[in-house]
Amino acid sequence: MEYSEIMVRYGELSTKGKNRRNFIDRLAYNVRKNLHQFPELVVKAHRDRMHIQLHGEDSQAVMDSLKRVFGIQNFSPSIKVERDMEAVKETALKMVKEQFFDGMTFKINTRRSDHDFEYDTNQINDFLGGYILKNIPKIKVKMKEPDLRLRVEVRKNGIFLSSQTIDGAGGMPVGTAGKGMMMLSGGIDSPVAAYLAMKRGVEIEMVHFFSPPYTSEQALNKAKELTAKLAPYAGHIKFIEVPFTEIQETVKHDVPSGYLMTVQRRFMLRIAALLAQKRNGLAIFNGESLGQVASQTLESMLAINDVTPMPVLRPVVSMDKNEIIKIAQQIDTFDLSIKPFEDCCTIFAPPSPKTKPRLDRARDYEARLDIDSLIEHAMAGIKVSEIKGGETFLNQQAEEFAELL
Ligand code: ATP
Ligand code: MG
Repeated sequence: MEYSEIMVRYGELSTKGKNRRNFIDRLAYNVRKNLHQFPELVVKAHRDRMHIQLHGEDSQAVMDSLKRVFGIQNFSPSIKVERDMEAVKETALKMVKEQFFDGMTFKINTRRSDHDFEYDTNQINDFLGGYILKNIPKIKVKMKEPDLRLRVEVRKNGIFLSSQTIDGAGGMPVGTAGKGMMMLSGGIDSPVAAYLAMKRGVEIEMVHFFSPPYTSEQALNKAKELTAKLAPYAGHIKFIEVPFTEIQETVKHDVPSGYLMTVQRRFMLRIAALLAQKRNGLAIFNGESLGQVASQTLESMLAINDVTPMPVLRPVVSMDKNEIIKIAQQIDTFDLSIKPFEDCCTIFAPPSPKTKPRLDRARDYEARLDIDSLIEHAMAGIKVSEIKGGETFLNQQAEEFAELL
C-alpha cells in the first residue's frame, strides 16, 4: 500500500509531566536527524502523537531507520483519506483484503480528535465493520485480541487508516539525560553498555585507549567501526582516541605485576573523568560485569573507582554473559566484537592479576609514578572525530593496501 504518513506513539516520556514538551521536542529533533537521508519527510510533533508525513519517501526504509530512535513506543504506517465515508470504506476494505487469511478475525477501532465530524465512533465502527463483513465472507469480528486491528482516526485534515502497529526502540530520547563518557574497548560488553546508556537518554562520547605499536591500527579501527554500528541510535557519536602506550609501559616497568591491571585502570578512569570535566560530561559508563574477569570484582571496582568522585555507571553489571551476547547480536555488534584484534588491556594483562586488590596498595604503588605528567602527555595526544552510522573503518585499510599492489 502507498502510505502517506507514519504515526508515532511516544514511550515512557508520556508520563513525564512538565518536562514533556522538552522530551517531545528532543524526540522530534532526533527523528529529523536520524531520518535526514529522506529529504521529503515532514515531522510534526504534537502532545500525544508524532506524525511523519512521507511525501513519497519509501515507507519501509523510513520505518527501518525509525526503529532505532529511542523514546518511541510503537508506530503505524497510515493512509490518509478524504473525510468522505465512501472513500474510507474502500480503503479500509483494500487494507484488510491485503492481509486477509482464512479464518482471520478483525476489529475496527475508531478515534475522533475532531468531534465535529458528522458520525461518531460507534457509527463509524459499525459502518466500516459491516462493509468489510459483507465483502469478505469468511472474515469474523472479534473484540478481544483480533488478528487484525484496523485503526481509524478522524482528524480535521483527513481520516487516517492503519492496520499495523510496529514496536519502536523504547527508552528515552537520546540527549534528554545529559552527556556521559563511554569507555569503549573492542570487546563484547562495552558496546552493549553504550547501547543501554543511550536507551536511557544519555548522549555518549566514546573514549578509547590504544597502545601503538603493541596494538594494531585494526584494533583502533574496530573500536571506530563499533561506534559506527551504534551511531544510528544517536545520529552520530564523537570518538575520542587516547594514546596509552607511555602509561602502560611505565606502569609495567614500575608497578608489581599483581597490581598492573588495577593501576592501569586507575589511569584510564582518571583520563575519562578529566575528559568528562572538559566536555560537560556528567558520568562515566563502562562495560564491567560483576565477576566476569579478574578486574571485575567489587574489591577491584573500589580500588579503581577511588580516583574520581564522578559516577561510574555499569549498565551490564548484573547481566550474565549470555544475556549480554543476546543484546550484542540484536544490535549487530557481536560479529565485530569477536574479531581477534588485540586490545591494549589484553596485551598488557599480567599473568595473575589480583582479583581482590587492596586500595592502600594500589595508591602506594601508583605514588611511585609521575601521574600528572603521564596524564598530561596522554591528553596532549588525544584525537576527536565524529562517526556516523554505517561508516566503515576495518575494510578501508585492506582496500588501500590492495590498491598499492
Ligand atoms: P569489554 O567486552 O567491554 O571489553 P571485558 O569484559 O573484556 O569488557 P575488560 O577488558 O576488563 O572487560 O574491560 C572492562 C571495561 O573497561 C570495558 O568494558 C570498557 O568499558 C573498559 N575498557 C577496557 N579496555 C578499554 C580500552 N582500550 N579503551 C576504553 N575502555 C576500555
Ligand atoms: Mg575487553
